[in-house]
Amino acid sequence: MRRFFTDKIEKPTMKLTGSERKHLAEVLRARVGERVVICPNDGRDYVYETTAFDKDSVTLTFIEDRDNPTEPELKLRAYIAVLKGDKTELEVQKLTELGAAKITPFVCERTVGSGGKTERLRRAAHEAAKQCGRAVSPEVTDVRTLKEILPELRGCDAVVFAYEGAYGKGRSIDEVIGGDERSVAVVIGPEGGFTEEEVAAVREAGYECVTLGKRILRAETAAIAAAAVVMQLCGEWK
Ligand code: SAM
Repeated sequence: MRRFFTDKIEKPTMKLTGSERKHLAEVLRARVGERVVICPNDGRDYVYETTAFDKDSVTLTFIEDRDNPTEPELKLRAYIAVLKGDKTELEVQKLTELGAAKITPFVCERTVGSGGKTERLRRAAHEAAKQCGRAVSPEVTDVRTLKEILPELRGCDAVVFAYEGAYGKGRSIDEVIGGDERSVAVVIGPEGGFTEEEVAAVREAGYECVTLGKRILRAETAAIAAAAVVMQLCGEWK
């Protein structure tokens, strides 16, 4: 069953409008009597049946609701430097599939990309959540600065600040993550990496730099790989 995100659900009937209506009625060309899943971002799936179509809305009748098993226990917060082209969108799409709860694009000294258009990133998250069967579309914040995000990291049980210069000096992810964390932050830099001053500020804030191994990964590779390893270590792939 296809899934559609709405702000709220209504019983016994509700109307699907806007882009979600367009997708159901015009793209998928649904007919009366078809079943769909409505997701109000509360982690549950609400099954409805289409009962009427008009030019502005599709009328749906409530059938049943159920838990959605795809939502991770772990709250993964991904902090990703804005990249060139559509690479930031690619990161958002993959982080959503991997189960991220919140995605924060940020700019820092060596940011050259302008891929942080919030509406486009939110759409990428929304579409990826629908495709992978999630009941929650991750929060995608406005673009912040590295300085602004540092205090936020304090609220996480573990922080994976991926620094390309940490190989041979810093710990690896499996040494930082114990596996019973409830929230983990992953921080990934831009194509040009982090400056010495930024790394010093991160250390000053009490976070350690983590290595992702001896090869220099592209930022989008690093974001996807680090999130995947964290999800696996925290038992989200069982
Ligand atoms: N310009 C940097 C250089 O040549 O050393 C590379 C930056 S890399 C393309 C982009 C980001 O991915 C880095 O800032 C870091 O967050 C992460 N990253 C890539 N490879 C890494 C590694 N081996 N260890 C830790 N972080 C890595």
